[in-house]
Amino acid sequence: MASRCPGVLDWHLAEDGGLARVRLPGGIISVEQLREFALAAGLGAGVVELTSRASLQARGLPVREQGRFLARIERCGLLPSRAHDRVRNLLQSPLAGRHPRSSLDTYRVVRAFDRALCADERLAALPHRLVSCVDDGSGLGLRADADLALVPAAADPARRLELLVGGCPSGLESELATAHELLLDALRAFLRLSDRATKAPRNVHELPGGASRLAQELGAQLGPPLLAERCAPSQERPLGEIEQRDRRRAVFALAPLGRTDAGSLLALADGLDELGLRELRVTPWRSLGVLDLAPEQAQRVAQLLTAAGLVCDRSSGWVGLSACAGLGACGKARADVRVAAASRAAVRGASDPPEHWSACERRCGEPERPEAIRVVATAVGVVVEGPGGERQLGSVEAAAGALGSVGAGATGGANTGGAAPSGSSAPTGGTGGAGAAAGASAHPAAVPGDLDYLRDGREIYRRSFATIRAEARLERFAGPLERCVVRMIHACGMVDLADDVEASPGFAAAATAALRGGAAILCDTEMVAAGITRRRLPADNEVVCTLGDPRAAELARELATTRTAAAVELWRERIEGALVVVGNAPTALFQLLIRLEEGWPRPAAVIGVPVGFVGAAESKRALAARRHLVEFLVVHGRRGGSAIAAAAVNALASEEE
Ligand code: SF4
Repeated sequence: MASRCPGVLDWHLAEDGGLARVRLPGGIISVEQLREFALAAGLGAGVVELTSRASLQARGLPVREQGRFLARIERCGLLPSRAHDRVRNLLQSPLAGRHPRSSLDTYRVVRAFDRALCADERLAALPHRLVSCVDDGSGLGLRADADLALVPAAADPARRLELLVGGCPSGLESELATAHELLLDALRAFLRLSDRATKAPRNVHELPGGASRLAQELGAQLGPPLLAERCAPSQERPLGEIEQRDRRRAVFALAPLGRTDAGSLLALADGLDELGLRELRVTPWRSLGVLDLAPEQAQRVAQLLTAAGLVCDRSSGWVGLSACAGLGACGKARADVRVAAASRAAVRGASDPPEHWSACERRCGEPERPEAIRVVATAVGVVVEGPGGERQLGSVEAAAGALGSVGAGATGGANTGGAAPSGSSAPTGGTGGAGAAAGASAHPAAVPGDLDYLRDGREIYRRSFATIRAEARLERFAGPLERCVVRMIHACGMVDLADDVEASPGFAAAATAALRGGAAILCDTEMVAAGITRRRLPADNEVVCTLGDPRAAELARELATTRTAAAVELWRERIEGALVVVGNAPTALFQLLIRLEEGWPRPAAVIGVPVGFVGAAESKRALAARRHLVEFLVVHGRRGGSAIAAAAVNALASEEE
């Protein structure tokens, strides 16, 4: 249970619950298996991660669900052998046989390999870190750290594969149909040599005598490493729509910071099922791919992947951005690096250097690429390392700001090599750049790092909106309505609020025209009225709340209703062409709808976002059902409130962010 290298049977107990990893040889998973995995992950928090070894893992699993999790995974064929649960790491090109450089398809080799592996109990003793690759000639299936690999043979690349040991050609070749046996023989030889070693080697490099000794055990002699292109990993990372060599299409989408969720995967599985698609690829670059599509299917698949929160856009700031499990998931985390890293997605470009954020010195998941920017929360502050040097900052927020919109020069010239004293969060050495660029103005060296906060209000707004736009599903909205949704999310801090927003097609145009034309704003409570920023109003519009009118109490008694509902009665003379804002009281919204049904003059638009447990959801449904009466905006469900209502008005009133 406490293993650091988790499987389906042996979970790692992390800060957020059980962590179970599911092996996917070659990254192959059927749509049905994806659905079952998502259902299994949904037994807990539903957090799903894509690993750099093309596996899937579920986080936040309750220990009591271990039996049900195992049963689901086993039933759908994702655990063909319990003994081999943690014997995995067979990688192949996700575009095997389809890439322009492919000389053969490795699919059958992977399948045959895993069947034979799982049938051989001795091979269950292989170390979990050992990496084997099968490449199709594209280089996408190779890794620099591969212990063993099969690559197309130089003399007959369309029909034969050659074994690489530790990245070096061995001269051992086989026909495609039996090539998996070459790899299995090498693994058995690895185990024989391991048995003779005094300390169990975890990879070929740790074997006494290394790769040469293993080749010798196989009766071969190694050639020089990486002499030929066929032995070199490709740096290409497929994303978005790709044309295959047979003119069909593949679509790849990455999971932001390597994470998605069970609900999104379930919806994706359903969508792919409807299209008659049966299989996906999980890639070592934390993305999912769907292959062999007709051009017209590709667009629909890209939409499904995007709707699942994955990123198909090659220019996205998520490309090359990664972070460790971080706060809430790992007990060692010193800072919320995932939130800071997410804020970078909106401001960096896909062509900026790769960027990795680690919440402690262990630097889990850090890429080996020398051009990468590395942000590490250490015991003495946050260190930003890059090709230009190193600098120390007081917080991950300051680091995000210091990296700015172009990461390349971000570390240059500032505090190179200098470690700030413990507790100091100021950029030392007088170079100025970091804190000032972040809007974290100079502050006394005595301020502890965790109290170093961003002081520039504009920068706080900018970053907040950038984070919302990076994390919320806003594809359904445009123009003033998009601004409206962003501000409503900003008011409550819940990015999934966007999913509950519904507006009539003419709402944004009607509401903004009304405001520009000087329409009154009728509010159900003083709190809503107080939240409207007067300087944003385009025509010095009157903001009206009749709740405090003494007549409201009397009317409430008369009508046997609440005072907020009765206060609506006092809108009669002003309502025509007005913008109505209900942020608190469902009773006010119901009363308004009753009067509109009776033939009251029509307001220009209604923002209906009352909050609560009684009548809130129902009143908003009733408003949405009366789109023939009035243009409307609602947040379905229980959520709403004064702050959200006022934020919607403020967004409609001015384009200024
Ligand atoms: S880098 Fe540190 S905080 Fe992040 S996952 Fe690894 S051990 Fe945990």
